[in-house]
Amino acid sequence: MASSVTPRNPCPKENLGNARRGMGVKLGPRRNVLSAINNGGAHGDAVSVDGGDGGSAAAVIEFSGREDVERLLAEKMKGKCKTDFKGRAEQMSEYIKKLRACIRWYIDLEDGYLAEQEKLRSTMDAENDRHAELEVQLSNALQELKAANLDLTTRCNSLEESLHKEKVDRMLAVESYEKERQDRESAETSRDMLTVDLERVTHEAKRFSEQLKMVQDTNKRLQEYNTSLQQYNSNLQADASKSGETISKLQKEKSAMMETMVSLKDLNNSMKNQLDSSRTSQQEAIRVKEEFRKEVECLRSELQQVRDDRDQSVAQVNTLNVELANCKEIAGQSTEDCESLSVKVSAFEVTCNMQQEQIQTLQKQLAFATEKLKLADVTAVEVMTGYQEQKVKIKDLEERLASAEFQIVEADKLRKKLHNTILELKGNIRVFCRVRPLLSDSDSSGAEEAPISYPTSVESAGRCIDLMNQGQRFSFSYDKVFDHVASQEDVFVEMSQLVQSALDGYKVCIFAYGQTGSGKTYTMMGQPGIDQKGIIPRSLEQIFKTSQSLESQGWKYCMQASMLEIYNETIRDLLAPGRSSNFEMTAGKQYTIKHDPHGNTTVSDLIVADVFSSADVTSLLAKASQSR
Ligand code: ADP
Ligand code: MG
Repeated sequence: MASSVTPRNPCPKENLGNARRGMGVKLGPRRNVLSAINNGGAHGDAVSVDGGDGGSAAAVIEFSGREDVERLLAEKMKGKCKTDFKGRAEQMSEYIKKLRACIRWYIDLEDGYLAEQEKLRSTMDAENDRHAELEVQLSNALQELKAANLDLTTRCNSLEESLHKEKVDRMLAVESYEKERQDRESAETSRDMLTVDLERVTHEAKRFSEQLKMVQDTNKRLQEYNTSLQQYNSNLQADASKSGETISKLQKEKSAMMETMVSLKDLNNSMKNQLDSSRTSQQEAIRVKEEFRKEVECLRSELQQVRDDRDQSVAQVNTLNVELANCKEIAGQSTEDCESLSVKVSAFEVTCNMQQEQIQTLQKQLAFATEKLKLADVTAVEVMTGYQEQKVKIKDLEERLASAEFQIVEADKLRKKLHNTILELKGNIRVFCRVRPLLSDSDSSGAEEAPISYPTSVESAGRCIDLMNQGQRFSFSYDKVFDHVASQEDVFVEMSQLVQSALDGYKVCIFAYGQTGSGKTYTMMGQPGIDQKGIIPRSLEQIFKTSQSLESQGWKYCMQASMLEIYNETIRDLLAPGRSSNFEMTAGKQYTIKHDPHGNTTVSDLIVADVFSSADVTSLLAKASQSR
């Protein structure tokens, strides 16, 4: 039994409260209550009954319920001898003890019940209060609910009405839905068709977009290529301008050298002249010397003769003296002879003296001439060394000139190549478009603006033209577009590079194409006046100017011109003489276009005229325009 009551709760009220709370207002089964009361014993333990007299083991009696009490009541006296009163009395007292304990248990139990009853009553009161309160609340709620019900009923009625209406509407809607469904079905069939179409179109669009992408890619690549080409072009132009500068520098140097050359040549010439003159003077001096020598020789011979004469004279004088002595000795020849002889002698002496003087002056002259000759020799040597120096200098200058000329030729070759490369990069075939202005007289009927516009975006500026026709826009792009205000000069600037190419030895063709009155003749020939000149006269001017300037570099240009017209598929020579009057004569000629293996194109039987200046060409042009 003892084990069954554990664990003991130290707080029975709480436990009870728990039980009550857990079970609401109802009382639990008795056993529970009893055990609870049991537990709630003052000692906290089960009610224990002591044996009292301590002889036997302590007998503890516990009551856990009615069964225990009934068992106690049903307990019989143990089979002891009827006479054993003492034993029976003990047993009785034991039993009485037990009964007392039972009574005490009962009293406790009753107390517990009373307390419980009290508690329950108070709880009931509280519950009653609560109940009344709840009832009030419920009645209130009921009233509210009634009101709400009423309200809801009215609303229900109205809703029913609206439901009815809705039903009618729904019928209508169903009908329309049916119709719609049919429509939708038909729409679905058409949608299916359209879907197929759409798929096809999508496919095509995809294809187109791919193509577009490809085209864009190509475009992009082309643009990149274009930019790289432009860069290359600008590089080439820079190179070309650099080489042009080098050429001009070289040309300047060359001209300076030429000037030095010329001055040196002049100097050389003057030196030569001087040399010649000094040579002639030297020769003269030599001649004079020779003469002097001869003279001296002659004078010497004369002197010798004179000496001989003198010796002879002296001998004569001696002989005469001897004779005189002889005569004196012989006696007395005439003193006159003697005197005359002495006169003669003195005369001879005088001539002898004179001749001696003459010899002296001649010797002086000879010395002077020799001096002069020496001097002339020295100057001749000096002149000779100067001449040699000049010669070396001239040789050096000539070498430098030759190298400069070589450099110029090389630079010119490079320039030609670069120029041609630039033109090739710009495009070997280029198409330009020129718009003619409206003419005041013939085109005045079209008073409204011409339906032409020029796009100004970066990539199409100056290269594109838009035309409007019946509200539709047509775009065209060219290598260059000249608008109606472009001058003849503007147009020629684009062509002048081609003319340079022609002068560099490349083949060039420029032709104009357009309907009658669109400005072909104006563009090619132009009109009299400096600003109005067209491409042909300007090109010819440039050709003659450049060929003249290139002549100094050693180039020689021979120019020939021929002019022809193709009219109705027939070739006509515009330079043929008397073309208009004697048409049969020219008609007999076979004008055929021939291409030779070197890429030259000629027209047989065409008159080819040599031209030497732009005036020649002008007269040829006049002749040709007359023939037309
Ligand atoms: P085409 O030779 O094509 O038949 P033209 O050159 O004779 O045409 O031109 C027709 C007219 O238009 C001429 O009177 C010409 O002067 C004039 N013209 C053409 N282009 C221009 C221009 N750019 N500026 C001024 N006048 C022009
Ligand atoms: Mg014309």
